[in-house]
Amino acid sequence: MSSHMLIFLGPPGAGKGTQARAVSKELGVPHISTGDILREAGRKKTGLGLAAKTRMDKGDLVPDDVMCRIVEERLSELDCREGAILDGFPRTLGQAQFLDQLLQQREGDGALLLNLQLEPTQVIKRLTGRRVCSECGEIYNIYLNPPHQDGVCNKDGSELFQRPDDNEDAIRQRLLAYERETVPLIDYYRRKNALHDIDGNGEPEAITERLLNFLKRT
Ligand code: AMP
Repeated sequence: MSSHMLIFLGPPGAGKGTQARAVSKELGVPHISTGDILREAGRKKTGLGLAAKTRMDKGDLVPDDVMCRIVEERLSELDCREGAILDGFPRTLGQAQFLDQLLQQREGDGALLLNLQLEPTQVIKRLTGRRVCSECGEIYNIYLNPPHQDGVCNKDGSELFQRPDDNEDAIRQRLLAYERETVPLIDYYRRKNALHDIDGNGEPEAITERLLNFLKRT
């Protein structure tokens, strides 16, 4: 594989975050989750964080200009020299066009687009059952991948929390945003023959293996 710029696409709850973390560890390239960046800004109560939080909690997207600036800045950092794993960006056609331009300016950086596929019933189960470690960000699911001890992270013993946007109303809104804004961009990449569909069903470890095998062959 010539480039390590990987882009995870797929509906909310498809496993983008879990898999991006795992693949990042394997390949040693940074994992950039735009959702994590916004949540961190929210915790720090920066202007950006507070403005984004209102939208995020309702399940609405944050405007393209804000998101593009965040990603441009993050990708310009030294650790992204050899590439990065994008999780949650691009989510709109405008963001995809911006990223195309950005990658053209980065010498030799092609992007590999991985589309994690999962049916809507599974998506709901993944989102409603999701719990996240407040310290290290490890992702669990109380139905499918529970921690050893209720509410406690296996890795560092910290408390697990439920994301404020993992409630029924916000989930409905996020799936709508996905259909309206992100599906057109997935169709756009598919028409360009640039998309690699990956089956998102199964245990997290099995999906990671599927992904790594695919990357080895590419
Ligand atoms: P995620 O953690 O990827 O599920 O993102 C959580 C929320 O952050 C989304 O529902 C949006 O409100 C916001 N967000 C994250 N990434 C983007 C993006 N690329 N464009 C717009 N909004 C985003």
